[in-house]
Amino acid sequence: MTPTKSGSFHLFRAFGIDVYLHWSWLVIAVYSIQARAHEYSSLVWNVAEYLGLFVTVLLHEFGHSLACRQVGGKSDQIVLWPLGGVAYANPPPRPGATLWTIAAGPLVNMVLFPLFFALTLLTGQLGWEGTHPDFYRFLETLTWINGILLVFNLLPIYPLDGGQILQSLLWFVFGRARSLLVATVIGFVGVAGLFGWAIYTRSVWNGVMSAFIFMNCWQGFKYARGLLRLERIPRRSGYACPACGKPPVAGAIWPCPSCGTPNDIFATNGVCPQCQVIADVAGCPDCGTASPVSLWRKRPPPPPR
Ligand SMILES: [Zn+2]
Ligand SMILES: [Zn+2]
Ligand SMILES: [Zn+2]
Repeated sequence: MTPTKSGSFHLFRAFGIDVYLHWSWLVIAVYSIQARAHEYSSLVWNVAEYLGLFVTVLLHEFGHSLACRQVGGKSDQIVLWPLGGVAYANPPPRPGATLWTIAAGPLVNMVLFPLFFALTLLTGQLGWEGTHPDFYRFLETLTWINGILLVFNLLPIYPLDGGQILQSLLWFVFGRARSLLVATVIGFVGVAGLFGWAIYTRSVWNGVMSAFIFMNCWQGFKYARGLLRLERIPRRSGYACPACGKPPVAGAIWPCPSCGTPNDIFATNGVCPQCQVIADVAGCPDCGTASPVSLWRKRPPPPPR
């Protein structure tokens, strides 16, 4: 339920991260620039304002991506679209690494907001509201944009950053599955509030955004239930995931690479009972990392970081 590369233009690549722009962004940009045309003496300022929003969102997403890579995760793609941006970030499945990856986005706005606020105050003192009204209005709007993005993103509604921060904090205490379950249930309450707000403001835009958040929260909830089911399946001793150290489940969950029959790779030594094809990699149900079967043989788990 998030925009992907398909339907998007590749804009540029920086720090090993590819930035894409979804086509719908341009449509909404034209609409928004027109709608605010009366705010400035020239449309050029409206374009500058929208680009300011674009750069703000981009920096926020770079915050997520770079933090994710800093803690050893994978993140090489950012897609921007009208509902903001999506940094495809895959931090290592540890609460601390996840917390830093999520928190780094709003931290960018926490730096930008006081910066633009100070610039607005300063130029206001210099009387630019009268002498350079367009530039003053531009600074004022960017202050608002950063303030609103900061507050909105920190709402504890999964999958907004605030909801994900809440989840990673709960993760330290309750584990991954339960923390996600709790965060998504709290998210449903918050989404109900967002829908109420959309109705109150009679805003189609807010309604669309609430629906989008609801669908992603629902997917998170289903994922949490899947993780809980996974926790109840008995584990096989003698093996451990080379990436996260968790033992594999004792069950036929790995599809054969040739015929697709679900096999218990660690009971059959990777040989498919149906077609005899040997599977040489096994994906970890806990962390998602695919590793060669030979590396799964029991080794001491990595020290907790
Ligand atoms: Zn964010
Ligand atoms: Zn693993
Ligand atoms: Zn097979």
